[in-house]
Amino acid sequence: MFDTHNHCEFSCDSKMTLQQAADTAAKLGIGIILTEHWDYEYPTNPEQFLFDRDAYFKKNLPLRSGNVLLGIEVGMQPHLAEKENKVPEGYPFDFVIGSIHMMNRLDLYEVTTYKGLSKEETMHDFLRDSILCAESHNNFDSFGHIDYICRYWPYADKEFHMEENQQEWDRLFKILIEKNKPIEINTRRLEAEAAVKALLPLYKRYKELGGKYCTLGSDAHYTEHVGRRLDVAAAMAKEAELQPVYFKERKMISDR
Ligand SMILES: [Zn+2]
Ligand SMILES: [Zn+2]
Repeated sequence: MFDTHNHCEFSCDSKMTLQQAADTAAKLGIGIILTEHWDYEYPTNPEQFLFDRDAYFKKNLPLRSGNVLLGIEVGMQPHLAEKENKVPEGYPFDFVIGSIHMMNRLDLYEVTTYKGLSKEETMHDFLRDSILCAESHNNFDSFGHIDYICRYWPYADKEFHMEENQQEWDRLFKILIEKNKPIEINTRRLEAEAAVKALLPLYKRYKELGGKYCTLGSDAHYTEHVGRRLDVAAAMAKEAELQPVYFKERKMISDR
C-alpha cells in the first residue's frame, strides 16, 4: 500500500528528511510518495511555498526506488492555471497532486479569509474556485484533500453536508471524472467519526457519477504521521467502491 502524500524538507513547513520518511515507511511495510508544496502567490509570503526543482531532484533521486517515489503538490488557483500547468514540465516527477489551498486568492489556513462570510457563502466561493481550478488545470494526477478547508474554517459545524451543495459537488466531480483524475482520500481528519461520516457520501457520489479511482494520503509533515490512518482511508475506499491507485512516472498503478 502507498501513502501518496508526504512533505519533507523542501516544504517550508516540514523538517523531515526523505531518508527518515523512507525508513519509517519501510518499517510500516508501505510505499511513499514525496509531494512537496508548490504554491504560487502564497498570500502571506509569495515565495515561501516554492522550491528549487533542480536541487530537489539532485538530493532525492538517489533515494528513489520502487517504494519511494518523487512527486509534488501543486496548489491551484483559477487565475494561475497557465503558470501552474507548467510547474512539473521538464522534471521527472512520478506524481502530481492538484490541491486547493486558497479561495478568493486568500489562504484557507487564515481565519481572516472567512471574515464576513457565512458557511453557506464560504461553501459557494470554495466550490466555485474548486470547479474553476478543475476546469483550467490539466497537469495533475489526483485531486487533493477535498476537506482541507474543514481543517481550518471557523464554523462550529466543521463538516460538509453534500446535499446542501449537490449541484456544485456534482459539477466538480464530473469534470474530474471526464479528465480521468482520481480523488484523494486524505487521512488527516479521519480520526473524527463525524468527518468519515460526512466525507463518505462524497466519495460514493464521485463513484456514482462514474469515478473509479482514488489515492490515499496522510499529508505527513513528521515521521510519526507517515502512513497514519491509511487503514481507515482504505476501508472508506472499499465502501465507496473506489480502487486505490498510486502513480509512477505519471502513470496510474493499481494499489494492492
Ligand atoms: Zn495540501
Ligand atoms: Zn500536503
